[in-house]
Amino acid sequence: MDEIETEILVIGAGPGGYAAAFLAADRGKKVVLVERENRLGGVCLNHGCIPSKAYLHATHLISEARRSKQRGIIFAEPQIELNTLREWKESVLEKLAGGIQGLAKARGVEVIHGRGHFQDSHTLRVETDQGQRFIRYQQAIIATGSRPAMPKAFDLGNPRVMTSTEALELASTPKRLLVIGGGYIGMELGMVYSALGSEVTVVEALGGILAGADSDLVRPVMKAAKAAFKEIRLSTKVTGMTTAGRQIKVITSGAGAEDSREDHFDNVLVAVGRRPNCDDLGLSNTSVQTGAGGFIQVGPGQQTDDPAIYAIGDVTGGLMLAHKAAREARLAVAALVGETAEDPTELLVPAVVFTHPELAWVGLTESEAKEKKINFKSVRFSWAGLGRALSTDATEGFTKLIVDPDSERILGVGIVGQGAGELIAEGTLAIEMGATAFDLAETIHPHPTLSESLMECAEVFYGASAHVVPKAKKSTD
Ligand code: NAD
Repeated sequence: MDEIETEILVIGAGPGGYAAAFLAADRGKKVVLVERENRLGGVCLNHGCIPSKAYLHATHLISEARRSKQRGIIFAEPQIELNTLREWKESVLEKLAGGIQGLAKARGVEVIHGRGHFQDSHTLRVETDQGQRFIRYQQAIIATGSRPAMPKAFDLGNPRVMTSTEALELASTPKRLLVIGGGYIGMELGMVYSALGSEVTVVEALGGILAGADSDLVRPVMKAAKAAFKEIRLSTKVTGMTTAGRQIKVITSGAGAEDSREDHFDNVLVAVGRRPNCDDLGLSNTSVQTGAGGFIQVGPGQQTDDPAIYAIGDVTGGLMLAHKAAREARLAVAALVGETAEDPTELLVPAVVFTHPELAWVGLTESEAKEKKINFKSVRFSWAGLGRALSTDATEGFTKLIVDPDSERILGVGIVGQGAGELIAEGTLAIEMGATAFDLAETIHPHPTLSESLMECAEVFYGASAHVVPKAKKSTD
């Protein structure tokens, strides 16, 4: 029997798993990293964040080139070579995955490719191409991530019905694409396909897209999506889906009986959330417990109900974001070396939707504050008054601060507009450090940049921004 002994075993080489493996190795631990795919990096690198951002960047050039006409720079209509676009995306992934492989090697982390299955709380059986291997470990971290949810009713066994994984392969540009779900994936990939020429329809069960973000922040994204897509149908559900020759027949129903409709699409992208990858891990041979939705339950320090096993990232539920998984990797490694056992529910996790315009938020949202009856004051600063926004055609954006009116501490930040995903980092740091609106207002921000919007917004809190007329002084004529 091929048996390996190690101190730490990490299952899954996504942004949570490889970070955990590397951090544990840096603490002098002997680490084995098990990954079922050939390429390291997990969903984020191979089928998620990175390919989608590559496509969003590439396709945004198309709309930018069109907008350039009004600036006196006129481009011809673009010719799109899907093969080249795919190859370029693939080259980005190869470089990143190669980097992770190199970092693992440099640290002496042993990488084993295969599917893992727990035999007991200290043994993992791995099915590799060369046969079974058994890994005996002292402590394990499960970082097996998640996969797209595919409700049975949508699973026709027809490749025209895609999840984000297939959609990112970009095999073709369908003439008519239905996106089910107006969340992160639906909106981001809807924008990619519409820029490439698809006629995109989004069907969303709830009354608004991108639930979780404040509705005022979502509004500019909705406006851009309405302009780009053929249709966005809110409060609507897909009630039936069948193969109809080379198309998919879709029946949708809205709130009223008269809202029932039948349409035909060339492809359907199902983007209705994600499910944890732990059904076939053999968890029943350990004491690890799962909770609602099948996600692994963890406590302080990412500890599961099995004292030898920790879990991080998407497989534990909550916000399924790569940067949260990477942070949880730190928590788990700190806990398993016996340092601290931080409570993961207290993490401050920024969220970014990489649509055009981008939408980002962190900390308390206005709707959450109202729901929890938290005393707050919200202030907004429109980018229409920012030199940098005007000179880059980004005036549709705005920045919002949620402030504690007594302590003046910043509780939440929301930003919509170009580069919001970059700008939100300052808001995250401000909240982490317990900064007040005064701290932000007093910090000199470089001009002309979009980052000034955070400073200006903080000045609005004190009623003193140079670019906003104080309410009391507004002319009445
Ligand atoms: P999501 O939870 O963001 O959105 C799913 C949407 O589908 C929801 O709005 C929901 O109301 C809707 N929905 C569910 N069932 C439906 C039905 N039957 N008909 C119509 N609408 C329905 O999920 P997602 O977009 O699939 O993304 C999954 C996860 O991946 C997200 O939670 C996010 O954490 C992660 N992700 C993040 C990024 C990013 O950070 N930019 C990008 C992509 C994905």
